[in-house]
Amino acid sequence: MPAGPEEKVNLLGLDRAGLERFFVDLGEKPFRARQILQWIHQRGVTDFADMTDLSMALRQRLDARARMTPPSIISEQCSDDGTVKWLMGTEGGNAVETVYIPEPSRGTLCISSQVGCMLNCTFCSTATQGFSRNLSAAEIIGQVWQAATTLGHERHGQRRITNVVFMGMGEPMLNLEAVKPALSLLRDDLAYGLASRRVTISTAGVIPGIDDLAEGVEFALAVSLHAADNELRSRLVPLNRKYPVEELIEACKRYTRGHHRRSVTFEYTMIDGVNDQPQHARALVRRLSCLPCKINLIPFNPFPGTPFKPSSGETIYEFQKITRAAGLITTVRKTRGEDIDAACGQLVGKLLSPSQRRLLVQQQLARQAVAS
Ligand code: SAH
Repeated sequence: MPAGPEEKVNLLGLDRAGLERFFVDLGEKPFRARQILQWIHQRGVTDFADMTDLSMALRQRLDARARMTPPSIISEQCSDDGTVKWLMGTEGGNAVETVYIPEPSRGTLCISSQVGCMLNCTFCSTATQGFSRNLSAAEIIGQVWQAATTLGHERHGQRRITNVVFMGMGEPMLNLEAVKPALSLLRDDLAYGLASRRVTISTAGVIPGIDDLAEGVEFALAVSLHAADNELRSRLVPLNRKYPVEELIEACKRYTRGHHRRSVTFEYTMIDGVNDQPQHARALVRRLSCLPCKINLIPFNPFPGTPFKPSSGETIYEFQKITRAAGLITTVRKTRGEDIDAACGQLVGKLLSPSQRRLLVQQQLARQAVAS
């Protein structure tokens, strides 16, 4: 009896090693993995019938056991500045957000790793949604697949997506099992072919995850620091109670040790009167000396219900000046896609409550069922 849709393996989430195992289990040669990778990720094909270099018999066997299902696009919003935000529906009626940020010399895709988040950072709107579940590898790489398919892989001979950052919803280090195959597909020349330094994993400071990634390929690491002392950081990022700043910095040192090209980017959200004063800048300088790093100051992005306000441009400038004077490389992140609530920490648009979102997802699934 042929497998039902939910029993079929979703090949979208298998990296090259996973696909090779899949084909070997099927009694096929492992090199089939290479063909399938290109069909799925470079040509955007999701129907085995279109894979013309596979025999008819193999296509039929694949059809009986496997599928390629990306997340569905529930909505697409385009900002005046070219930023695009998608609400993507995942299996089981959940949705996540994915953002594309074009710049003259690159195109960055910001992807989600979980539905909601369990870390409860007090200045982040995703936290207000609570945590639903981990995304699967297919749902993580599926966001890249959808964005590349919707935007087109190339424009004027240039790649559309040159960088991928795990800075959407969720904490990637708490879902490494699914994040790792997605990372491997991002790098694979037969899939997205991105240099590993163009893929950034952002973490609120999950030390075992940092140590785990330190073992493998050199991806770019971003750590959401937001405060240099434990008392303040624990208020902003409750995870700090489990992994305090001094241990986190030690883990970052381990990450860079022995790799002269590795550096860590520290993200620091500038919140008015909370963590943006000269003494905070000086504390940050003390913490980050003797570590190859960059600081990225992010003006706080407000969302409904938050008591926090963004720091003024002048305060941010003063903060930047102090850290630069101490020899640290400090940049200020430009906020993009504000008119569509696509900026950092704003994911989960204010228009949609969790129940509204569930309703939208159900409507979309019903539309798809009618269409197929
Ligand atoms: N959980 C991961 C990745 C998601 S958050 C992490 O914490 O790094 C991506 C970045 O946006 C983090 O640096 C986060 O602290 C920051 N951020 C969250 N809410 C924000 C807000 N309201 N304004 C500005 N930056 C915010």
